[in-house]
Amino acid sequence: MRDPNEPFANLRALDILAIAAHPDDVEQTCGGTMIRMAEQGYRTGVLDLTAGDMGTRGTSELRIEESQAAAGHLLLSWRQNLKWPDARLENTITTRMTMAGVIRRIRPRTVILPYWTGRHPDHYRAAEIGYEACFLAGLRKLEEETEPHRPFKILYSSLYANVTPSFVVDITRQFERRMAALLSYKSQYGDSAEGSDLFPAQAEVEERLASVARFYGNLIGVKYGEPFVVKESMQVDDVVNMAVRSI
Ligand SMILES: [Zn+2]
Repeated sequence: MRDPNEPFANLRALDILAIAAHPDDVEQTCGGTMIRMAEQGYRTGVLDLTAGDMGTRGTSELRIEESQAAAGHLLLSWRQNLKWPDARLENTITTRMTMAGVIRRIRPRTVILPYWTGRHPDHYRAAEIGYEACFLAGLRKLEEETEPHRPFKILYSSLYANVTPSFVVDITRQFERRMAALLSYKSQYGDSAEGSDLFPAQAEVEERLASVARFYGNLIGVKYGEPFVVKESMQVDDVVNMAVRSI
């Protein structure tokens, strides 16, 4: 893990960056995929937009500390938190430009965004800011001190959306590690923490996450999976060796 006070110094480009509204969103939605990509040798990173300061449990400092512990389980090369206001994320010129600046410095080829509709406004707002920042980051004249960089691919993490995924990543071998990452947020998922009448117990969280991962895994004939949507068509070069049984 890098020194969080020197977020960009001597930073090599990332292969994949997940952008999320709240600490622990990545752990719940696409953490298995991030672990699997790191295991395959890719440089992976997470940009959290808020520190969850409106949450009932814990403080923003604690959430960020917990997210750094989770980063170890996720095998991340880089993780930063922009500390924007939780529950009131706004797509403004400032937020778009700030995120575009981050993207130009860490130069990811692939970006994962939250799905573009959902219950929590921060999630769809993060998707919107993320998309527009990826576009802006490619403009040569955006700012002088950084080179333009537009990510090649944008994936939408659709675990919470009731939509058919474009594809599912098999995370069967990464599932336990992803669960360990999520449970790093002890202020959120510890059984004895404050507000336990409002929050599900750890065992229930584990059961819920496993059920959802089982559902998506089942779509591709494996134990655990994570779903994604892409807006473009998927290209296939070999229709003989395609995965997932039809009948
Ligand atoms: Zn969230």
